[in-house]
Amino acid sequence: MTPQPDPEAGAAVKAADRAHVFHSWSAQELIDPLAVAGAEGSYFWDYDGRRYLDFTSGLVYTNIGYQHPKVVAAIQEQAARMTTFAPAFAVEARSEAARLIAERTPGDLDKIFFTNGGADAVEHALRMARLHTGRPKVLSAYRSYHGGTQQAVNVTGDPRRWASDSATAGVVHFWAPFLYRSRFYAETEEQECARALEHLETTIAFEGPSTIAAIILETIPGTAGVMPPPPGYLAGVRALCDKYGIVLVLDEVMAGFGRTGTWFAADLYDVVPDLMTFAKGVNSGYVPLGGVAISAEIAATFATRAYPGGLTYSGHPLACAAAVATINVMEEEGLVGNAASLGASVVGPGLRELAERHPSVGEVRGTGMFWAVELVRDRETREPLVPYNASGEANAPMAAFAAAAKKAGLWPFVNMNRTHVVPPLNTGEAELKEGLAALDAALSVADEHVR
Ligand code: PLP
Repeated sequence: MTPQPDPEAGAAVKAADRAHVFHSWSAQELIDPLAVAGAEGSYFWDYDGRRYLDFTSGLVYTNIGYQHPKVVAAIQEQAARMTTFAPAFAVEARSEAARLIAERTPGDLDKIFFTNGGADAVEHALRMARLHTGRPKVLSAYRSYHGGTQQAVNVTGDPRRWASDSATAGVVHFWAPFLYRSRFYAETEEQECARALEHLETTIAFEGPSTIAAIILETIPGTAGVMPPPPGYLAGVRALCDKYGIVLVLDEVMAGFGRTGTWFAADLYDVVPDLMTFAKGVNSGYVPLGGVAISAEIAATFATRAYPGGLTYSGHPLACAAAVATINVMEEEGLVGNAASLGASVVGPGLRELAERHPSVGEVRGTGMFWAVELVRDRETREPLVPYNASGEANAPMAAFAAAAKKAGLWPFVNMNRTHVVPPLNTGEAELKEGLAALDAALSVADEHVR
């Protein structure tokens, strides 16, 4: 579709937004949201007719791109047939979505509790773990993101937690592996894995194993910087959970549904959690949906004892119809394999080639369509290009980087001193190369801030 410029309509959308929409995670008067006129595939456009290649997949959720005709048609058909029905009933779209998800989740994660998104999936997974074990505490990693509701933000290890949570009873943070910023403690992945597992077991010992209900981890931490764990780490965490009777919750809200080039990131590490949270890619975010995949053992806890929790829109038929259509499209179009092969042949090599030419690139990490580029002032000291959690003038180098990418036609994902490369899984080779060329131009601007 060719974008038709209509600046007047755009100005009206923007004016109403500025007057009445209260935006997430933002100082309301310091932001300037783009008015979006339309979107298709891996592109969207504004009311001035400017088109952007989306290397963000929205908030890392449009895994099949925008406006996929088969998913749009499935939503329309479901709306015509049965727009909504309460969760206590068996509804075809809901049971079919649960079946398709359970068939793809690892191990015996065969029961699906549906939520409206990722944060409430985390809330419910932690509640299930506490009820299952009868224990109060949850261990979670620094450098993590688990959502914006109360318990989810409390387990989040990210400065976004600071605003609403100073110290939370029952939540203990630990230091998961991240070799790039652990180098004074470890030089190799093996050493970092050993450091992190020893630290975790010590934390468990000092907190008291019999007080710990769950360890929650993003299988590959996403928002905090796409940090694939070293080989053996997740298997080691699984072993610690088994040793101490702790529930392992893997949060696959961002990494799941093909993002990593496998259905779930857990498949890369051959680890089966007790509970797995998902959202985003399950239906490409066309209608809000999330959930918890539950092991046979935890499901059995609630076989004759009621699970004391639920949501009005749990398993909403429109969202579930979108999930069924999305999963079918992913199978028909081979999108999981596409993410794996283009990630390995185009995105990874392309980013590494940029790293060789641009002194502002400290490290490139990732897999599939899930990558981060760490921008630094100094490759030797690894000083970030902007200070941690910078805003205003202190954040100017990253703002200049983002502006240069947009000027080159790319909408980049920018978080602190990083840009994440997380396009839809069906972005083609030519489009990926177009995006890499725009990143090349933007990195030249970042290079101006290198010492
Ligand atoms: N967990 C992870 C790993 C996420 O990346 C996110 C969102 O980015 C969430 C949970 C929260 O999901 P939602 O924003 O749908 O509530």
